[in-house]
This record gives sequence, C-alpha cells and structure tokens, in this order.
Amino acid sequence: MNWYFCDGKTNPADKLTRGINIHNLMNDETWWTGPSWLSGLDTPTWETTFTSDKELMEIEREYKGERVLLQTCREPVEPLLDLHNYSDLDKVIRITSHVVRFVNNCRPNGEKITGPLTANELICAEKCWVRCVQQTEFAEYAEIKDHKSVVRSSKLFSLNPILTEDGLLCLGGRLQKSDFNFHEKHTLILPSKSRFSQLLISREHQRLHHAGVSETLTQIREKFWILCGRQTVKSCLNKCLICRRFKVRRGNQIMAPLPENRIQAIYPFENVGIDFAGPLYTRNTDKASIALFTCAVTRAIHLEVVSSLSTEHFLLAFRRFISRRGICPTVNSDNAMTFKSADI
Ligand SMILES: [Zn+2]
Repeated sequence: MNWYFCDGKTNPADKLTRGINIHNLMNDETWWTGPSWLSGLDTPTWETTFTSDKELMEIEREYKGERVLLQTCREPVEPLLDLHNYSDLDKVIRITSHVVRFVNNCRPNGEKITGPLTANELICAEKCWVRCVQQTEFAEYAEIKDHKSVVRSSKLFSLNPILTEDGLLCLGGRLQKSDFNFHEKHTLILPSKSRFSQLLISREHQRLHHAGVSETLTQIREKFWILCGRQTVKSCLNKCLICRRFKVRRGNQIMAPLPENRIQAIYPFENVGIDFAGPLYTRNTDKASIALFTCAVTRAIHLEVVSSLSTEHFLLAFRRFISRRGICPTVNSDNAMTFKSADI
C-alpha cells in the first residue's frame, strides 16, 4: 500500500486549526482554491512526498506501544447438592462436610483428616452453602465484591450489605459501636425464596418444638437475616404437617330436631325430667341430695331436698312435687336404681 502525504502548507484545513487572522485568510489562495496540485492532479508531484515503508514502520512503532490485556472469567456457581431432594438441613451440612473433607484429603500435600466430623468442618460447610446461595440468588453479589455500590432499586440497598473475608454477604446495620461480636452485629443475608432458607426455618422450627412465627423468627435472626423474614417464616410454618394437625378446627355436629313433646303448648311441669344432684353435706355431717325436676317445655326447675337416695325418700319428694305442681303425665329419668325401684 502506498501512502501520500499532504503537507500543512498546502492543506486548507490547517489554516484554521493553526490560527490565521481574517485579512490573511481573505487573501490566502490555498483557502479559496485548495492545493495547487489538486486542480492538475499531478501525481508525479505526489511521489516526491511519498513516505517510505521504513518511516511508516517507525511511526507505527511509536504509536503502537505495549498494551497488556487481562481477561477474567467468572464461572457460574453450581450447588453441590440439589436441596429440593432433602428435607433436613443438618443432613445436607454433614454430607457437604464429608465431600469437602474428601476433596482436601485428595490433595497431595494436604493434611489427611479422619474420624468424626468436627465443629469447624460443619461451620465451614454451612458457610459454603450460605456463600453459594448468596452468589446464585443475589445478582448484586458481584458488584459488592468489586466494591461497587448497590443500585437503589435493589432489595439489598436498605440493608447496607458488606462482604466479609469469607465472601459472605452480611447486614451492615447500625450496631457497629455495640459490644456484640461481629456475627451478632452483622448477620448473614439470605434470600426469601431459596430452598436453603426454607430448610433453615424448618430446622429452627423443629428445634423450638414447633414454636410460632415470632419465636422462630427471633431465633433465626440471631445469625441470619432473611429478606421478608416474617412472611417467609409464616408461609414455611403453614406447610408444617404437625402444626396443621394440631391447629385443625373440630367439626360441628348438626343437632337433631327437638322431640314433639318438648315443643307442644302445654302447662308447665306436664312433661318433666328427673335426676339427682349432690351430695350436700348437712350440719350434722349427714349427706343429703337434691331431687331435681325440670319442665321439658319451659325449662323451669323444681328442687326437693332428700336425706338419702333411697326409693322411699324419693317417693316422698315426688309426692311433694306433685302436690305443688300437679300431676304430670310424662316423666323422663335415667336408668338409676332408685327410679326403677320406685316404678312411678
Ligand atoms: Zn410445626
């Protein structure tokens, strides 16, 4: 490729960029007619201003410079297990701890760990899950990790989130100057609709012996801050089968229609029911009872004191009742021996 060069003296565009007063510009022939070689297209004249390849190489080398490009790639975080296949969070954490231990033991220079799981391993496994959930559920995680501010429309904006050294998103809060430890001041943020949050709520609910929404939420908030916490806990507890079984309402029995003799227009105590009430303790420590006569229509009652439950004493009380209220055609009683012996 051949390059041709137009010097500044014959380039009309350079007149203004280099500065010129109005009188010189008005008298400048190049400004009004263009370069002299343009009218004749004198190409041999252009060849005299030809820039050699060697000069071009030098110019290019001056402008080229060295630029270092660094491309980073963030691989999507894949959960270790499908949490929808599990109903116990402790089991998930134990499995994760075993997997992490196996991976560490496979490393050639690492220290081999054997024996039962330690508390540190379980805590690390739980942190792994929290970090995984935060990375997959919160789109703002990458921005916070790059020390960028969270957009105002984000759910995390009001929480003033901070990122710990472990890569965990924590609540910023306003307790920085309190005497609480770090995890109490900055609880871990969890999304509301993740399976991990549901398992966590279920674990605390069962640990508190199926406590209510407020108690469960209070215990969870000592360590975790679930978005829309009360609503999430409430919806999760509504799915608890044991709680639903205890909260179920009993069925209402439909009452049978009243018997015919209870709804007829008759005099009081024509249709009576009899029963004993008591015992009553008299002043001389003898026991006494009450023979209760009730009208089946008006629900009026007549009481007679009897000194014992014997048939003789009942018949005397019944005679007093009839003398006062009149003869009753219908008498209803239970199957007590006194009434059967009286054979009234
Ligand atoms: Zn429950």
